[in-house]
Amino acid sequence: MSDKERMAIQRLREASEMSLFRYKRPLIVTDSGGKDSSVCVELARRAGIPFEVLHNHTTADAPETVYFMRKEFVRLEALGIPCKIEYPHYKGKRTSMWELIPVKLLPPTRKVRYCCSVLKKRGGQGRFIATGVRWAESTRRRDSRGVFEKNASNPAKRIILNNDNDDKRRLFEHCTLQAKRVCNPIIDWTDSDVWDFLLSEKIPVNPLYAEGFPRVGCVGCPMAGKRRYRDFARWPAYEKLYIRAFDKMLAERQRRGKLDHGWRRGAAGIEVFHWWMEDGVLPGQLSFDEYVGMMEE
Ligand code: SF4
Repeated sequence: MSDKERMAIQRLREASEMSLFRYKRPLIVTDSGGKDSSVCVELARRAGIPFEVLHNHTTADAPETVYFMRKEFVRLEALGIPCKIEYPHYKGKRTSMWELIPVKLLPPTRKVRYCCSVLKKRGGQGRFIATGVRWAESTRRRDSRGVFEKNASNPAKRIILNNDNDDKRRLFEHCTLQAKRVCNPIIDWTDSDVWDFLLSEKIPVNPLYAEGFPRVGCVGCPMAGKRRYRDFARWPAYEKLYIRAFDKMLAERQRRGKLDHGWRRGAAGIEVFHWWMEDGVLPGQLSFDEYVGMMEE
């Protein structure tokens, strides 16, 4: 066993202890269907701790991810691990990516990712959760994420521990503030650490990696930039779903008298789609970045 595996297992055991002590419930390991989640679930199993697995059904996941998760849940439940799928709700009603777009009146963008909070980051309220977040995934994460996190609604009360001997540790463990606590046991793993572990230990992984997809998030995720062309070539039905949602979004804007900011009367969902894909700016419309910047002001 490598030092990183040993350390990650130690972190999971500590998180499990804190979860049982603080919440009287087992740790929840979130599983998105991606490779990092697969590592976390396997490490939690090897840690010998009680835990549950939670998958958020985003409605925009590739069909292969949905099938992979179904198979994984059968495998994990046969090992005695409780598994749960959380379906998205918005204002008390079941929703989906396609229903959310007309309600929010704009497509999800790199900077306005309302979809993540509704479709993806749900479940585990009032519980201790473990995720596969890694610093190697983005530079922003290096500053904002840690081994252990306590998220409070007041940002000043948020606690992040970036290493295993942080002096804020006692504060983290003893603070009684009601807040979601998170453990990121593989936060310091590199891509090769992840793949070395999965391949050497023969852990089942999402089949989309074998097709060369570097990530397996939602089809059309704005964070994927130009990689979305490949997504839509592979799953053309999702392109149609987005275009139909953009049509409904324009109709809703017209109904509410909000055809402003360059959304002109008579525009069609297909035009919004090309603008969103950053194929080129439509006449009379703001560029994608100008629009996103304006929405943030
Ligand atoms: S499309 Fe991207 S930003 Fe939106 S929920 Fe999915 S992963 Fe999050």
